[in-house]
Parts: sequence; C-alpha cells; structure tokens
Amino acid sequence: DTREPVTVIGLGPMGQAMTTALLGAGHPVTVWNRTASRADAVVAKGATRAATVADALAASEIVLLSLTDYQAMDDILSTATDSLAGKLIVNLSSDTPQRTVEAARWLSDHGARLLVGGVMVSEELVGTEQSYVFYSGPRDSFDAHEATLAVLGRPDYRGEDHALAQLYYQAQLDIFLTSLAAYLHATALLKAAGVPEPTFAPYATEMFDMVSYFLRGIAEQLERGDYPGDGASVTMMGATADHIVGASDAAGIDATLPRAVQSYYHRAIAAGHGGNGWPSLYEVIRKR
Ligand code: NDP
Repeated sequence: DTREPVTVIGLGPMGQAMTTALLGAGHPVTVWNRTASRADAVVAKGATRAATVADALAASEIVLLSLTDYQAMDDILSTATDSLAGKLIVNLSSDTPQRTVEAARWLSDHGARLLVGGVMVSEELVGTEQSYVFYSGPRDSFDAHEATLAVLGRPDYRGEDHALAQLYYQAQLDIFLTSLAAYLHATALLKAAGVPEPTFAPYATEMFDMVSYFLRGIAEQLERGDYPGDGASVTMMGATADHIVGASDAAGIDATLPRAVQSYYHRAIAAGHGGNGWPSLYEVIRKR
C-alpha cells in the first residue's frame, strides 16, 4: 500500500517523535526546522530535509506543525504564503483557543485549512497504545486523513469549532499541572518535618488513584446543580483546607496553591453552601 506523504515542520522533541512514528509506519516524510541541525537525527532515519519552507509545503498535502506556539507558525508560514493554497495544516502546538481561531481565519485567507491538534502524551509515548490526540476543525479534512493521524496516537475528533481541541487539551493540562504542583507542595510539607521524599511517594500515588474514585457521579451533580451534603460537606473540607494552609505557614513553605483552594471553600461557605457537598465549589468557580 502507498502511505501519503507528510510534511513535519518543527523538530523539537515532539516533532522528532512524530516524524519517527510516521517513518516507522511507512510514510514518506519531509521535514523543516528553523535550526536546521535539529533535523539531522530524523534525516538519518529516512526523512527528507527541505531547504526552504516553500519546499516543505510543496512536498505534501498534509503538513504537521509541532511548534512552541502559534506565533511560531505565523513566523514560519508568513515567509511562504504563496505555497499554502490547498494544504491541510495540522497544528499540534499549544496556544489559546482565541489564537487558534484567528489562525484558522488567516490560513483560510490563503486557501489552506486548519485542523487543530492537542497531543495528550509526552514525546516518548507518541505513536504508542497510550497516545491520543484531540482534533477540531473541518470534519471532512479529519476523515480524509484519519488513518495518517492515527499513526501518532488514537485520534479523538471533538468538533468543527477550531477552539475545541485546544480547550480539551487545556482542560486536561489544567488537571495535570495543578495535580503535579499539589504533589510537590505535599512533599515539601512533609520534607519540612524531616520526611524524605521517597517515603511519601507511595502515599501520593495512592491518593492520585483515590481521586478518580471520588469523581464517580460528580459530573451528573454538576450538570444538575444539585450537591447533596452527605459525606464530605464544604464546612468539613473547608476546615481541612484551613489546616493545610496553617501547616504550610508553620513549615515555612510556599502556600499559594492551598490558599487558592482555601479561598474556594471560604467563598462557598459565604455563599451558603456550607452544608452542601464539595462539588458545590463549582458555583464559586463558574461565577467569577
Ligand atoms: P520545543 O519547544 O522543543 O520545540 C519547539 C519547536 O518550535 C522547535 O522546532 C523550534 O525551532 C520551533 N520554534 C519556536 N519558535 C519558533 C519561531 N519563532 N520560528 C520558528 N520556529 C520556532 O517543543 P516540543 O517539541 O516539546 O513541543 C512542541 C509542542 O507540542 C508544544 O506546543 C508543546 O506544548 C506540545 N506538547 C509537548 C509535549 C512534550 O512532552 N514535549 C507533550 C504534549 C504537547 P528551533 O529548533 O529552531 O528552536
């Protein structure tokens, strides 16, 4: 069978991993990177180095971008706008939903289409079973190239609105970044009392597993706006939030993150949710 040619622009860790996966699946891959030497490793594996951005665009109908942000896309593609017509630009770079929507308009003005992607795994997992990627943008473009995109990881199409893939990506990273910071804060709290980091690690893992258990049925409560107070009430959990801030201050460690959480509880109690379940914090969060 003949695999469609793919162009990859941007050869940071992610772009290199994607190029390697595509080559492994038998796709001819043309690459371009601002710092040309960063292409050496994938060229050694069989990728073709394009001398210019225009050459890179000319090589394939489907062009993957793996860049720091959307500004990098503007910087690169504005040097070759005459070569954009008819291309499907699949931008797998992170940025705000607003920038994503603007980029779709700009590309459309130059006769190209934008499919937005959010890769949900780190570079070493690209192309493996665990890998999945959110996409949004024109459905027909997604359908036409789904088999190629599947090489990177399970494609998860979220809708026509270009912002959606970026929003799903950010929602997932919102959970991820906050959870990782909480883990570091908790570790520092114990370290201040002399507990070595590896001693706490298995307990942290147990808590991460338990969090998903606590989420069962919560989305339905949030959707209904009904927060039964049985079990963990806002007053009870809010007292614990106060204690974590107190313990952090006493330990002399940074308490920015627990203070933010404490603030949610205080404001939920002030709004009359003290007897409700902790999911009622949602009311405080949704109405800034
Ligand atoms: P890097 O920051 O390592 O790579 C960035 C790439 O963007 C490089 O090729 C760099 O070129 C290029 N670039 C940046 N600015 C410009 C510019 N103004 N003009 C031209 N080229 C530019 O990022 P990663 O490979 O780690 O990530 C790429 C994207 O994937 C990011 O949006 C990231 O959020 C996302 N992502 C990353 C994950 C990871 O584990 N790394 C996981 C999931 C998503 P040069 O080599 O010349 O500097």
